[in-house]
Amino acid sequence: MEGKKKILFLFDVDGTLTPSREKITQNVREMLESIRKKVYIGFVGGSDIEKQKEQMGEDCLGFFDFGFPENGVSFYEGEVLVEQERFINVIGEERYKEMVNFSLEYLSKIDIPVKRGTFIEYRNSMVNISPIGRSCSRDERKSFKEYDVKYRIRERMVEELKRRFDKYGIHFSIGGEISIDVFPKGWDKTYCIRHVHGRGIREIYFFGDMTHQGGNDYEIFKDERVKGVCVAGPDDTVEKVYEKIKEIN
Ligand SMILES: [Mg+2]
Repeated sequence: MEGKKKILFLFDVDGTLTPSREKITQNVREMLESIRKKVYIGFVGGSDIEKQKEQMGEDCLGFFDFGFPENGVSFYEGEVLVEQERFINVIGEERYKEMVNFSLEYLSKIDIPVKRGTFIEYRNSMVNISPIGRSCSRDERKSFKEYDVKYRIRERMVEELKRRFDKYGIHFSIGGEISIDVFPKGWDKTYCIRHVHGRGIREIYFFGDMTHQGGNDYEIFKDERVKGVCVAGPDDTVEKVYEKIKEIN
């Protein structure tokens, strides 16, 4: 073997390397360890690095050549943080404030069975808006999800937000079970690709479970700089990775 190939195997985290909202299995870790001798490996997920560590282990950064938490808005090479962009630097205080004020007013006018707390959560790379509030219990979360399917609470709010704030280059989408994700346009998973350039990588394979339109892997899956592979869960990922490794050998 003449060392590593200039190929990156890039993985979505939730539903691809780990079961949904659960921890990584030994089986997947062994697969990553074995292919790392042949190709470069990286992960890309919407959550911040703390949440990624909860799912993939405290040592996960050292386990990959490239780490892209927050879709690559934070960029790690091994354990070293190389770059980190901020939501507020891109959107600006004035526009952000206008969007928050509008959202709070909108939320105050909708009638849903239960409201709790933390309706707007400000993060480094995104803002999260939740009509029920993020501090709701698990049962309340479940009831809201059902209510939302029926009455399209989030869908209607997203439509309204888009209508008003599209001109500011802000992206809104339904995220998870109770919230709306807000980030600058282009900060989907394709954002991370820019960091790989100039590092000698000639080919990128991306593995993800939400590759359908509206899914959070859709944009990168379709990107022409990437060869997309759709997986049905961690076991399927392992299988498809070994298939690809055989093909490129
Ligand atoms: Mg996923």
